[in-house]
Amino acid sequence: MPSPKRSLLISAGLVALVAGLSGSQLAAGAAAVPADAPAPGPGVRGVVLAVHGGAGSLPRGSLTPEQEKAYRDGLTKALRTGYELIKDGRPALDAVEKAVNVLEDDPNFNAGKGAVFNTDAEHELDASIMNGKDRRSGAVAGVHHTKNPISLARMVMEKSPHVFMAGKGADDFALRNGVPFTPQDYFWTQRRWDQLMAAKDNPPATAGAKPERSETGGTVGAVALDGDRDIAAATSTGGLTNKQVGRVGDSPVIGAGTYADNRTVAVSCTGTGEVFIRGVAAHDISALMEYARMPVTKAAATVVNQKITALGATGGAIALDGRGTLAAPHSTKGIINGYVTKDGEIKTRLYDDETPPE
Ligand code: ASP
Repeated sequence: MPSPKRSLLISAGLVALVAGLSGSQLAAGAAAVPADAPAPGPGVRGVVLAVHGGAGSLPRGSLTPEQEKAYRDGLTKALRTGYELIKDGRPALDAVEKAVNVLEDDPNFNAGKGAVFNTDAEHELDASIMNGKDRRSGAVAGVHHTKNPISLARMVMEKSPHVFMAGKGADDFALRNGVPFTPQDYFWTQRRWDQLMAAKDNPPATAGAKPERSETGGTVGAVALDGDRDIAAATSTGGLTNKQVGRVGDSPVIGAGTYADNRTVAVSCTGTGEVFIRGVAAHDISALMEYARMPVTKAAATVVNQKITALGATGGAIALDGRGTLAAPHSTKGIINGYVTKDGEIKTRLYDDETPPE
């Protein structure tokens, strides 16, 4: 046992050691910083609502004019829907739920209608929502028969004593609360079917290989700031094409895919879920803001472009702080996203060259 004096010396040494580390060293831990990690941009100011439609790559020319219009219209409708609510004095929680509902109903995105297929050619849907004011949250995983999983996640938060429900129990909970049964066929789209067939034709070279995301994952999410300066976040997804039955990604995991705390930030992530869970990505952005006092742009870029990439995955996030500064970092070439400012100005960003690493 060290003597009391020796203990004091050891503690003083530890304090000196920790004090000697810069904030960013502490933040990055032992993770190697990729040499080409982009510096965080300034972010966008005055934002009240932002949505994303998944991280990936959309080079210019990869969409037909009709497809481009459909994506931009979908994002714009989601932003308008949430903006109207905020303008009417409704809470950020309503805005993120309803904005995500629009994207869940849009077959272009991998959530609700248009969700990807698992190995058994089924849809298993994941979603989570969090209220920054009191950190109440709700989540569902592996849902089969609920049209809007984000609304079910909110229902779990508000109508059950629980935070997280999965599988049959979650679908039953929906039915007991009057949510109409949705047959699996509703979620079907040709595009996702073709992606499943392509994945079956090209199985991973090694058994047990990491699940792969398609280049534009299509997961959806929203973050919002309301008139009471409360923030909220929501994420909804069908997961990864050809995922194992029962696989759950980060999107429904509070702290990994979704997090909101009025003291720091509202975050919705997109990327290889396994790694975002291991990196507790959404909460880590909040933690860097809370403990290392980083601004949202730096905290979000540190997690997405350094810590998550060091764990071996790519992806992105939208992160909105309580002052209305939006960061949308990504280690993929792009992240489909859009935002609306407090004055109602809407911007949608699809192509890689439209999505700077802020
Ligand atoms: N994060 C999602 C998942 O792993 C996928 C994605 O965002 O593309 O389920």
